[in-house]
Amino acid sequence: MFDNISSAPYRCDNTPQSLCNSAARLNGFLVGVPLGNVFLPRQPEERQAAREAEMTNPLSDSSTNSATVLVVGAGPTGLLLACELQRRGISCHLIDSQPAPLHWDRATIVKPRSLQIFESMGLADEFLDAGCRQRAIKIHADGKPLGTLDLATCGSIYGFNLGISEEVTESILAGYLHQHGGRVNRSSRLVGLISQPEAVLAEIECNGSRYTMEFQWVVGCDGVHSTTREQCGIGMEGHDIATSWAVFDVTLKGWLETYEAILSYLDTPAVILTPLPKQRWRVYLRPTSQESDLLADAAATLRAYAPSTSFVDVENPTRFRCHTKVASAFRAGRVLLAGDAAHICTPAQGHGMNCGLHDAFNLGWKLALVCGGADPVLLDSL
Ligand SMILES: Cc1cc2nc3c(=O)[nH]c(=O)nc-3n(C[C@H](O)[C@H](O)[C@H](O)COP(=O)(O)OP(=O)(O)OC[C@H]3O[C@@H](n4cnc5c(N)ncnc54)[C@H](O)[C@@H]3O)c2cc1C
Repeated sequence: MFDNISSAPYRCDNTPQSLCNSAARLNGFLVGVPLGNVFLPRQPEERQAAREAEMTNPLSDSSTNSATVLVVGAGPTGLLLACELQRRGISCHLIDSQPAPLHWDRATIVKPRSLQIFESMGLADEFLDAGCRQRAIKIHADGKPLGTLDLATCGSIYGFNLGISEEVTESILAGYLHQHGGRVNRSSRLVGLISQPEAVLAEIECNGSRYTMEFQWVVGCDGVHSTTREQCGIGMEGHDIATSWAVFDVTLKGWLETYEAILSYLDTPAVILTPLPKQRWRVYLRPTSQESDLLADAAATLRAYAPSTSFVDVENPTRFRCHTKVASAFRAGRVLLAGDAAHICTPAQGHGMNCGLHDAFNLGWKLALVCGGADPVLLDSL
């Protein structure tokens, strides 16, 4: 895709015209906004070094209070927002309460629109190299195929979903942030917010001490149990889904079908197979009961379609609960919400992280313009 730019790692270049053009194609999101420099893909070992640096030095830049924006939460939403602000020259202080990135993995599906966003940042190749292509969704029920959705017809230049672990998505974004002079301040928890007409005071707890910092804007990307949302008194409307889902990672021994499609079996129990790199699969299922054996549940459904297949190298069998909720407002004065802090849906839809990425990308350029003097009413636009 980026034939016009070298594949050498870490080269900083002026934004190639092709990137500007494709960025401008994203619903005109970036039209008129300076993109600055684009950093080309980094190597995994440098990403790791950047992550280690952030883990070992949580307070390193909290003593200076020069940042304009506080981003709370370094999941995919907060990381992308921090990247977007930093590359536009808006300094931001990104905090996360966890001492290290989460290893329990969640999102596997990066949608075409998210790939377009990564392309505009010069990151598409790094993502494509790290993930696997999911070209179709094959739907089955009652032991028979019902139909196939061909993702080549989705209208994007990326006619596929990318199968990639959320942890890898986060590490690529963290590496990009580091290249642009940003960092994640870990073990730093937002505990209080005081809104003022011209600023927001944020109380942050780090290693047992508390400190207060002043920012022009605060964005809560702190997930489903958002402290930011709570501090602003913004409610969450919707409902919890009563029955749980479950997930595990596995290799399918004796698998004769494709490795390039999501396979959905709408039986009881329902099972969804999503491909990951190295011919691994993430298996989602609706367990038959709260105590049932998750592998036995999934095998019972799969047996009707792929009798010679068995599960090997199983990792992280886990039950989880789903919710369908949306915040009653996405902004309270100088405080905004994005990602799961603002809306949550069932992972079966594969939208949660993608919506958060789209929020962050949409908000990034608007907030950058507002920090530069534009009318804050821009932040209320969709
Ligand atoms: C099993 C499963 C599978 C999924 N599969 C998909 C999929 O295929 N595709 C998809 O699009 N989505 C999927 N999702 C949803 C996806 O994981 C979430 O939507 C996504 O992680 C949300 O990102 P976020 O950055 O908004 O929030 P989070 O990832 O929750 O990040 C929030 C961050 O804020 C930090 N934090 C919280 N409180 C504070 C505080 N007070 N101060 C500082 N930091 C704080 C947390 O430590 C965390 O790092 C799945 C979810 C699950 C459970």
